[in-house]
Parts: sequence; structure tokens; C-alpha cells
Amino acid sequence: MTNARRTVIVGGVAGGMSAATRLRRLNETDDIVVLERGPHVSYANCGLPYLVGGVIAEEGSVLLQTPRSLGARFGLDVRTRHEVTAVDPVRKVVTVRDLAADAAFELAYDDLVLSTGAAPVRPAVPGIDRALACRDLDDVGRMMRAIDEGAATAAVIGAGFIGLEMAENLVRRGLAVTVLEAAPQVLGPVDVELAAVVESALRAAGVAVVTGARVVGVRSDTVVLADGASVPADLVVLAAGVRPESRLAVAAGAEVSDTGAIYVDDHQRTSVPGVYAVGDAVAKRSPRGMRDVPLANTANLQGRRVADVLSGHASTARLTRGTAIVEVLGTVVAMTGDSERTCRLRGIDVRVLHSHPLDHAGYYPGAEQMSLKLVVDAADDAILGAQAVGGTGVDKRIDVIATAMAAGLRASDLANLELAYAPQFGSAKDPVNMLGYMAENLRDGRSRTVQWHELDEAVAGGARLVDVRTAGEFAQDAVAGALNIPLDELRARIAELGPSVVVYCAVGQRGHVAARILAQHGIDVRNLDGGIRTWRAAAGRSPAWRTSDH
Ligand code: FAD
Repeated sequence: MTNARRTVIVGGVAGGMSAATRLRRLNETDDIVVLERGPHVSYANCGLPYLVGGVIAEEGSVLLQTPRSLGARFGLDVRTRHEVTAVDPVRKVVTVRDLAADAAFELAYDDLVLSTGAAPVRPAVPGIDRALACRDLDDVGRMMRAIDEGAATAAVIGAGFIGLEMAENLVRRGLAVTVLEAAPQVLGPVDVELAAVVESALRAAGVAVVTGARVVGVRSDTVVLADGASVPADLVVLAAGVRPESRLAVAAGAEVSDTGAIYVDDHQRTSVPGVYAVGDAVAKRSPRGMRDVPLANTANLQGRRVADVLSGHASTARLTRGTAIVEVLGTVVAMTGDSERTCRLRGIDVRVLHSHPLDHAGYYPGAEQMSLKLVVDAADDAILGAQAVGGTGVDKRIDVIATAMAAGLRASDLANLELAYAPQFGSAKDPVNMLGYMAENLRDGRSRTVQWHELDEAVAGGARLVDVRTAGEFAQDAVAGALNIPLDELRARIAELGPSVVVYCAVGQRGHVAARILAQHGIDVRNLDGGIRTWRAAAGRSPAWRTSDH
């Protein structure tokens, strides 16, 4: 070992390579060794599903760096096909297996950074070895070969972000795709009434979606479910979630969570001196305690942070909120923070807001409607989470709200944000501002709402249900038992109503105006949040916090 301080980094993709390159930018003389088990480093695994679908045409496009380019630019000693098999934290030595040479050796370190990622969860059912995960370029190669050899049907096990991206890309390649999800809905982190929109979009695009599906076996060309159903599957894709790849850390004596995620402090230090960890392998500090958040943004950020820590620079940890986005067959879904389900399961008293704004001014061509949801702490107006489903503009709204949350803004503060506006980009009252107005009205008691899952109870409790849309809209689709009084006739027909009313309209906006009129006439009135659109989207569903099997 030379006199230079040596940092050994295990895992050469998102977190590991962020750490290595930042470390070099901060320390020109350190000895930095990156050991990667696979054949590639610094590749964009987030692009892999799009390679399968042919959206990204060349494999080379996702290979961002090579050991040679990293050596030339950053002076890094990057070794692929080198697996670290053991850590001796007392001697400060790792045992490395050179997979190409089939030889082992020891390498001393001053600091060790583990960025070993996560491994796919593989259900223990017969035949599961035929299922291909989508973790690296080898997996992609195997899938492409199967398609080239004539695979016509595919079953995707797991309807999380990666599962749905895979479904989309297999549809692109012309396969008949079935998505199999054990939970009662797709996209578990998203609340059921928004996830239902995605499910409808999948079905509309010809994807078969089976929720509550328990896979019991994989055969040569089918996947078998617990209810005896047999799903055609020339190709089986495994996307049933990941577990932290923390075996090395555990063997070295590091503390881990119930799920096996490595515990680190705000400086990415594990409980073992000299051993740091970042990325999917570690538990992240979130507003609701330590969580597994396997996302690229967090991995990169932590990689950068550990380099700062190792270089003696101040580093600021932030809470991880799981801000994420996915596009499925033209439908975009994004979220940040906690879902309503998570909050309610934790016993938090929440205010929930749904809206269905256009992404930009309706008079400017091409406006697209989205569904937005905000979850607010009823105790202090704090923003606990937000979700959106739609098309253009979904990303912007969730990112603005994520930023507001990071800055500690309250829900009502969203009303006052100054956001860029021209008709093709937004509205003078941006959808995020509108959420702020709604939050402010709820906070101050100027509006009261009923959620989609509370409507039956409100009506059973004696409230008169009034549809304030036009007669034409009412004729097309209405909630059973509703009385139609178009908003513009409401003042004249108040005498028809009793003391307790629930109003609704298409998306909640006219309902709010109606509720303001009725409240000022002394009627106990609530507005159906998100209007018939949210209620319809959730039709037949049960709120997930009331189902035991979720
Ligand atoms: P990884 O990037 O997975 O790197 C870990 C590396 O460690 C692996 O290459 C592995 O071979 C190596 N390794 C493990 N053990 C050893 C060992 N003992 N010795 C040597 N090497 C070892 N996130 C998003 O935010 N947005 C997305 O759109 C998105 N899309 C994704 C799509 C796919 C198909 C996948 C698989 C992931 C996606 N992610 C996405 C998640 C994101 O890629 C991960 O969060 C991120 O890569 C985690 O970085 P990491 O450094 O912790 O682990």
C-alpha cells in the first residue's frame, strides 16, 4: 500500500460511482479503488426497460462510462468482474474474487464504502428460475433474445414501477402482456383511487391486469396462480420488489433493519468503524422513521455526501421522501412523501384534497387533465404527501410540492407560490396554487369535504345529495339518488333542500361554489372532494387502509 489514503468502494453504479468521482474531485492524491462484480460500471439501469422496448436503440447509450474512461478522467482504479466476498473491519481488509481470473486476493483500505444496491425478491415457487429480473444488461440481453426467438406472451410478476415499465416496453415489442400483482391494486405506494386510473390505462392499452394474484408456479410457457388460473407466458419478468443487498455489511457486523437495510447515520457511517454505506442497500431517514427507498436520486445524493464526509467537508443530510415518477403507456404517475393510506394506517388525522386541473390554460390548444392529490396533517397543515396521475405537467407539480415539503412550507403556503406562467405552460392560478387555496379553505373551515369513501355514510346519515352540474352532464352519469340542481339555479331552489346536504360536480370546483352559497344560507353542507371524477375512478374499491390484505 502506498502512503496515499485508500478508499475502496464496493459497487460501481449509481451510489458507488457518484462517491468515487466526487471523492476524486475533492482529493487529487487519494487512492480510490472501485470493485464491481458485474461486467459494467456507471451504467443507467433506469434506462434498461427502454432498451428492451427499443426506445433506446443502442446498448452503448446506457453505458455512461468504462473503467478506462474513469481511469483517464478521474484517476480511478476501477475493476469490473471483481466481487468482494468478505470484509475484515479489524484488519481493514476486503477479500476480493477476480471472477475472470478465478482468483482471490486481499486489499487493504482506510475507508470502505458499500454501494452494493438491492437484489430482486424471488418468490419461492417451482420454476421461478425461468423468470428474468431486469437489473442489468445481461438480464436485458436474455429478454431480447427470448423476444427475438419468438416470445409472443409475457407475464410480469409485480406491478410496481419497474414492473409497469417492463409491461409498457413489452407491449411496444408486440407481446401480449399480463401483469400479476399480489396486492389489490397496482403501484402499491400510490393511493387506490389514483392507481385505479393507471389500471384502466393499462387495460385500455390491451394489458391484462390481475390483482390479488398469488403466483404458485412457473411452467415452460405459463405462470400458474393460486386460484388455478394459467397465464400465458413465453417470457416471465420478475419485478416483485427488491431487498437490500447487505450481506457483506451484515457479515462485517453492521447493524441492519428488519428488511436487511444497513443502518447509517447522517454521515453515511455504518455501525462498523471505517465502513460507510449508500444507496439501495441502506435504510433512509424519512419523516416516518427509517425506510427502504430504492431510488437513483437518493443513491447519487448519498454517494456525493459520503465523498464529502470522507474529505472532511460539511455535509447536510436531508429526509428522504421517496419522490418518484413513472410513465406507463402514456399515463404519468408521480408521488412524493406519504400516501393517505400510509398516514391513516399510522393513525395520523389527515385532510385530503383531490383536484383535476388542466396542465395549462384550457383556451390554449393541447391542455391535458390530470388528477392531483394532497395529503395534509390536520393538526398543523404540514404537507405529508402528494400524488398525481395524468400526462404533461404531472412531473412539474410533484416536483414543486416536493420542494415545498423540503422547505417546510405548509399546505396553505402553496397558495402563495409564484410560479412561471404563460398559457402553454400553466395557469395564472397554477394547479399547485389551487391546492393551496383548497388547503387554506379547509384549514379555516370555509369548506368542508366528503371523501369518495365517505359518501355512502354521509347519505345514510341523512344528507341530501345534490348534483350541481348541468342537466346534460347529469343525464350522462350521476351518483344514484342525487337530485340535480344546476349551480346557476341553486340560489332560487334552496327551499327544496333540507338542513344537511352533500354537493358534487365534475371535479369539485362548482361544488365548492355551491357549498359556499348553501353554507351562507345556514345549511350544513359538504362538497364531494374531487367530484364525481374521483368517486368514479374509485368505484367499487375499498380504501386500502380498511382492507386487511393490502
Ligand atoms: P446499484 O446501482 O444497483 O449498484 C450496485 C452494484 O453493486 C451492482 O452493480 C452490483 O453488481 C454491485 N455489487 C453488489 N455486491 C457486490 C459485491 N459484493 N462486490 C462487488 N460488487 C457488488 N430509480 C429512479 O429513481 N428512477 C428510475 O426511473 C429508476 N428506474 C429503474 C429501472 C430499473 C430497471 C432498475 C433496476 C432500477 C431503477 N431505479 C430507478 C433504481 C435505481 O437504479 C437504484 O436506486 C440505484 O441504481 C441504486 O444505486 P446503488 O448504487 O445503491 O445500487
